[in-house]
Amino acid sequence: MATPIRTDRLGFLEQELKSLEEQGFVWRPRTLQGEQRARAVFDGKEVVNLSSNNYLGLTNHPKMREAAKRAIDQYGAGAGAVRPIAGTMTLHKQLEEKLARFKGVDAALVFQSGFAANLGTIQALVGKGDAIYSEELNHGSIIDGCRLSGAEILKWPHRNVDALRQLCKESRQKYRRALLVTDAVFSMDGDIAPLKELADVAEEFDLIFMVDDAHASGVLGRSGRGSVDHFGLHGRVDVQMGTLSKALGAMGGYIAGSKNLIEYLIQKARPWLLSTAHPPAVVAAAIAAIEILESPEGEQLVKKLWDNARYFKQELNKLGFNTGASETPITPVIVGSSHNARQLAKRLFEEGVFAQEIVFPMVARDKARVRTIVTAMHTKEDLDFALNVFKKVGKELGLI
Ligand SMILES: *Cc1c(COP(=O)(O)O)cnc(C)c1O
Repeated sequence: MATPIRTDRLGFLEQELKSLEEQGFVWRPRTLQGEQRARAVFDGKEVVNLSSNNYLGLTNHPKMREAAKRAIDQYGAGAGAVRPIAGTMTLHKQLEEKLARFKGVDAALVFQSGFAANLGTIQALVGKGDAIYSEELNHGSIIDGCRLSGAEILKWPHRNVDALRQLCKESRQKYRRALLVTDAVFSMDGDIAPLKELADVAEEFDLIFMVDDAHASGVLGRSGRGSVDHFGLHGRVDVQMGTLSKALGAMGGYIAGSKNLIEYLIQKARPWLLSTAHPPAVVAAAIAAIEILESPEGEQLVKKLWDNARYFKQELNKLGFNTGASETPITPVIVGSSHNARQLAKRLFEEGVFAQEIVFPMVARDKARVRTIVTAMHTKEDLDFALNVFKKVGKELGLI
C-alpha cells in the first residue's frame, strides 16, 4: 500500500506572504472601535480621523439610524433572494426612483456595491470586438470590469485629452462599439477629470461615455449630485456610476442613465442578477441619505465639507507640504519614497492623527504619500490639531 504523500498544498502561501512582506505590500488593517467619526478610536488610540470616506458624517446621522431601525421592524433583516427573482422589495424601487430624480435622469439601478456596479455594467456594455478607452488611473473595479468584458483595453495617460484624441484617431475605426470610462475624482490624487473635454471626444468618436462618481457622490455638484451636475453636462454622459457607500454613509452602488440602459442591465449585469439584494436596513438608510442631501441640511453639509477641505489644503501648503494636483477633499501629502510615507504615517498616528500611507504599487515609486480626507464633521480644532502634528512630524522627518 502506497504511503500517502503528505504535502501542504497551500504551502506556497507562506512564501508568497513572506515575499509580500519583504516588498512592504502587506495590509494590516487597523480596527475601528466605536463609530466612524472625525475623532475616532483605532487600535485603542483616539485620533483625528483623516482616513474615512464618511465625507458628510452620514454614517452616524440620527435619520439614517432611525430609517435603518424602522426598516428592520417593518421588513426584516434580509431580502432573502436575488433581485431578478424575489428580492426586489418596495424599498429597492423607492431608492431607485429617488436616485433617478436626484441625478436628473430617467432611471437608476442599485447594485450591492460600487465595485459590483462597475463590474456588471462594463461587462454588459462591451465585449469582444469592442474597445474600451480607459484612463490610466481608473479604479480597480473599472479595470476588472474591463478585463472581464473581453473588449480591447486602450489606456490613455492621466487627464491627457490630446493623447486620448490621438489614440481614438488611430484606433476607433477598428472596433464595433467603444466605451470611454473615467473616474470623476481620482482617489489617490484628489484631482478631477476634465469631463467636458472628454464629453467632446466621446461625441467626436462615437464613444459610450461612462463616469465613476464614487468620490464625487455627495461631494461634487449641487447638494452632492455628482460630477455631471458639477460640470453642467446633463445629457452628455451616458452612464453615471455612483456609490452609496462613501459620502452617502450606507452601502451600495448604482448606475443612473436612460430607461433602456437600466432595462438592459437588469437582463445582463451579472453581479446584480446573481448576488442577493441589499437588506432593507441598508436600502432605507440610503433613501434617508438622499433625503438629507435634498434638504437644506444637506446643502450645508456639502458646503462645510468644502470649507474644511479648502482650509486644510491651504494650511498644508503654507507649511510647505506638496499636495499635488488635489482639488477635492482628498488631499495627498506627497513625500517621495515609500519609506518617507510610512515613517510619516507612523509618526502621525503616534501623535494622534490617522492618515493612511499610499505607496508603490498603488502610486508611482517616487510619489508615495500620506492621504488625508477631511469631512464635514471635522471642527476647526480637529483640523488645527492635525495641522500642528503635521508640522511637528514633518520637521522632525526633514520633510518640510
Ligand atoms: C470606492 C470606489 C468604488 C467602489 O465603491 P464601493 O461602493 O465601495 O464598492 C468604485 N470606484 C471608485 C473610484 C472608488 O473609489
